[in-house]
Amino acid sequence: MRGLTFQGTHDVRVEDVPDPTIEHPGDAIVRVTLAGICGSDLHIYNAGEAFGFAPGSRLGHEFIGTVEAVGPEVTGVAAGDRVMSSCSVACGECTWCREGLASSCVKWSLFGWAPRVWAHGGAVQGGQSELVRVPLADSTLHPMPEALSGADREMSLLPLVDVMSTGWHGLTSAGAAPGQSVVVIGDGAVGLAGVHGARAKGAERIICLGHHADRLATATALGATLTISSRDDDEIKEAVMEHTGGEGAHVVVDSISGPGSMASAHACVRPGGTIACLGMDHFMGKTPSVNWFDQFLRNISVTGGLVPGKRYFPELLALVESGTLDPAPMLSHTITLDEAADGYRLMADRAEGVTKVALRPAG
Ligand SMILES: [Zn+2]
Ligand SMILES: [Zn+2]
Repeated sequence: MRGLTFQGTHDVRVEDVPDPTIEHPGDAIVRVTLAGICGSDLHIYNAGEAFGFAPGSRLGHEFIGTVEAVGPEVTGVAAGDRVMSSCSVACGECTWCREGLASSCVKWSLFGWAPRVWAHGGAVQGGQSELVRVPLADSTLHPMPEALSGADREMSLLPLVDVMSTGWHGLTSAGAAPGQSVVVIGDGAVGLAGVHGARAKGAERIICLGHHADRLATATALGATLTISSRDDDEIKEAVMEHTGGEGAHVVVDSISGPGSMASAHACVRPGGTIACLGMDHFMGKTPSVNWFDQFLRNISVTGGLVPGKRYFPELLALVESGTLDPAPMLSHTITLDEAADGYRLMADRAEGVTKVALRPAG
């Protein structure tokens, strides 16, 4: 089969690789019909060796497809079923899975991060490929509702696998509620998910901070009532205050979570408000300093974190089915799997008009 492989810094290639096989009784093999390139894949693209990636590692944690085969212990899905995969493997049985925190599962592993080998049965290879092995398929896969299982709805479903779930996780953990004001920092896919999710949760004023005119236009289309492109926190604060009756935001979704964005979050949040951190700048060494005094003085909470697997799939699928949510515009480009290296380049260069690239394996 064809699969995207990491070869070195700024060098990914689609090559012929061995077909995956059922290695454990709980495995399924999924034929991928649409896969996404994630902003976090760019960390591997830019510095994979630093995370232990060897040439030949296969990337990708966002994919949907059709079950090709299942192991003897799989009961929840069968060959031919249309499925969405959680971006990470989870057992569904441990304390953390039962508490809705599959991202802390004792058997957790992320697709496409093979260097962090799954200790429970072989490397979890990436989904930017024609086929992918899904361990613990009963708890990692989620069947698509019949009404959304057609090829014409794939663009609306793929973002749910990671970015839309991540944005929703931030809003949910921050308690976003109807009538509130929400500020979203960042105009990448997770930022756009924060904007679109805030509208679905009934927020009245939704402000998106970013620096790309094209993405801010998408933010407006997805629900933003104001966009701000300033880099000056005083200016940002003034604009947010003006738009929120002088009070500030109940919820700030920080899709960057670095020193600059956290300072902006404090400038925007109202007393008693909540900042949801969803970004990974800290993972890349840009750790924000916490403004403890402001947090104390104004009773600000900080929440968010790693998306808990497929926890929000049922809720989000229902919202897509009812027409309340359609994250398809977050995917700016769809190309073939064989063109995936171009997709990485487009996203890494932040080319005009590029937000997120989807890959379609041929046939
Ligand atoms: Zn992702
Ligand atoms: Zn678990």
